Parts: sequence; C-alpha cells; structure tokens
Amino acid sequence: MKKLAILGSTGSIGQSTLSIVEQFSERYSVAALAAGHNLDEVFAQTVRWRPRLVSLATEELAAELSKRLRLAGVTGVEVVYGTAGTVACSTLPEADFVVSAIVGVAGLEATHAAILAGKPLGLANKECMVAAGEILTKAARERNVPILPIDSEHNAVHQCLRVGAHDEVKFIWLTASGGPFRQLPLEKFASITPEQALKHPTWTMGRRITIDSASMLNKGLEVIEACRLFDVTPAQVRVTVHPQSTVHSLVEYVDGSILAQISVTDMRLPILYALAYPERPHSTLTFDLASLSHLDFEPPDLERFPCLRLSFEAAEKGGAHCIALNAADEVAVEAFLERRIPFMGIPRTIERVLAATPEAHPATIAEVLSTDREARARARALLAR
Ligand code: MG
Repeated sequence: MKKLAILGSTGSIGQSTLSIVEQFSERYSVAALAAGHNLDEVFAQTVRWRPRLVSLATEELAAELSKRLRLAGVTGVEVVYGTAGTVACSTLPEADFVVSAIVGVAGLEATHAAILAGKPLGLANKECMVAAGEILTKAARERNVPILPIDSEHNAVHQCLRVGAHDEVKFIWLTASGGPFRQLPLEKFASITPEQALKHPTWTMGRRITIDSASMLNKGLEVIEACRLFDVTPAQVRVTVHPQSTVHSLVEYVDGSILAQISVTDMRLPILYALAYPERPHSTLTFDLASLSHLDFEPPDLERFPCLRLSFEAAEKGGAHCIALNAADEVAVEAFLERRIPFMGIPRTIERVLAATPEAHPATIAEVLSTDREARARARALLAR
C-alpha cells in the first residue's frame, strides 16, 4: 500500500489523483492533504479519506476545519496551515509518495522539502521546475529521488525515454494543441477577450493555465521544464502544434527513429503512471485507435505567439530569466483577466520584465523566491504606468 501526500488536493490534479486512489484503493491510500482556501471541499475530502494530516492556507481556515471535523465526530486528523503546514504534509514520515500539484511558486518550498526528505515525487507543478529546476533536480539526483512528471507532455516524454539512452536523444518534441487562437489572424489578436481565451479546445484546466495555453506561454514553460527534467539543452527541445492532442509528445533519437505516446486526453493516465512507476497497472483508460482518422503536425507561429519565443530566450539564459518569465506572466495574466491590459499586453509585459532582469543563477530556494518577488514587483510597476 502506497501512502500519498497530495499537495493541492482541491485543484483539478488533486481531485483526479483522489479518483485514482478511489479506483485503486488496494494500491493507494491518503496520508496527507494540503489545500488552499476551499474549506468545503477539504472537509469532504478529509471525511472521505481520513488522512493523518491536513493543511490549509491560513490559521482561521485551519481552526474552522478542526471545528467542523469535531462536530462531525471525525478524530485522529491533525490540521495545520501555511507554508509550514504544506511542508509538514510533504515530509510526513509515513508518506511514501508526494503528489506536487499546487499551482504557482506557492508549492516550491514543500516540493523541495519532499525531495530533501527522500520522497519520490509526482510533479504536476511546472512553475516549480521553471523557477527552481536547477536546484530541485540537483537535490533529487544527489538523493536518488525519482521525479515523475504528471504534466501530460513530460509524462509522454518520460515514457518514450524508457527505450533509449540519454546520449541517443536528438530532440524532444513537445506537442501543443495550439489553443483557441491557432488559426486566428494576427490582426485579430488585439481584440481577444478573457472569455475567448478561457475556452480551451481539448483540456479543462485552471484559469491561468488556460490563458497560458492560449498564449502558448504554457508550452514555453514546458520547454524549460523539459530541459530540467530530462537534462537536455533548449536547442534539443522542439515544439510542434498538434490540434488533436492525441500524441502527447515524442522523442527523436539520433538514428532517426521517433517514438510517440498516444492515449486519451485524461490526466488520470499520467497520474496513474507516476504513482505506479515502474509498474503499469490495468486501467479503464482505453483509447479507440479506430476513431483516429488523421494526425496533424505544424510548426508554431512565433509572430502570433511571441510568448513561445520569449520562453526559448529565457531557457537559454536560465536562472533568474526563467523565474522572471513565469512571475511576469502570472502578473500579466491577472491583469488581462481583469481587463487592464489586452491579450498581446501579456508578451509585451514579459518581454520588458525580462529585459530588465539581470542574469543570475539563484542557488537556494530563498534566493529563487526573492528573485520571483522582484520580477513580480517589476511587472506590477510596469503595468501601473
Ligand atoms: Mg502540459
């Protein structure tokens, strides 16, 4: 029985993870849940899964959950809060595996702490890898801690890499759905509204990642994530637009062979793969190959999607530029959703923040977080003008 600590339990990856636990209850149980502000959902999850430890964002929320659990007659659950609470979840001695699915750099300290504690990690939080990938992968390598990617593309790459050696890899090909504006002419980009950008053609996800998919910044973050996870250079990572989202990614080997991973577009599959690795359990997540009539692949248009170009530039510089890319985007996306800037204001903001960011390679999580704060402040100051 593998006991899980799930960071970000009320988000979409957290909920999908719990549905895998439900389906494979003979394999997995829940030791700890960390969430933010969604008290009703955490209460329901705690009653259902009876973890030993639960963490919420604030002291007030933790007190309220404790009260509700008492009234419901639920005992044996310790409730904690804040970053220290999330870290307590990710390092809980009885947890055998940590699912890191808190959105943004909020999950960074707990993810790092899990690696230091030697916990195998299922990583759904790409911002952690983008902001602190150099530190996290180094710590994981030193401790021989496996990091299993839950992001669908990287999960596909991980699977395709199992058949070859590292020095045989020529390119990693990340597929991109192209988002809702794949065929929109450039002159119409100026009038894109938040409602249009929030409609993703193939995946249902959180708000920021949906906007990031529309701008292709999400793919850019995934390029950086791939460099860190698989120890390749940005020049070895290529992006191909594949509207069917059926091939989740590919690996091209030096002999000319290209391996692809195909499956349903359902996050439960990469989650199950990460939890069960190196095994492959039987699942009901089948893909109907006969329904597949064609697969399209086309190069991305860097003029309409400058966020992708900016991401490759940041990937080449590494360190502070990757942190600033992510931080500036988060601030800019928020401003776009609040209708303070147009859609193309997102790449403009990122570009200006990157230009003002000095080249640096933070060596500790504290330095990463302060670089992140500086980049956010820079982005806010730009937008306030
Ligand atoms: Mg992805």
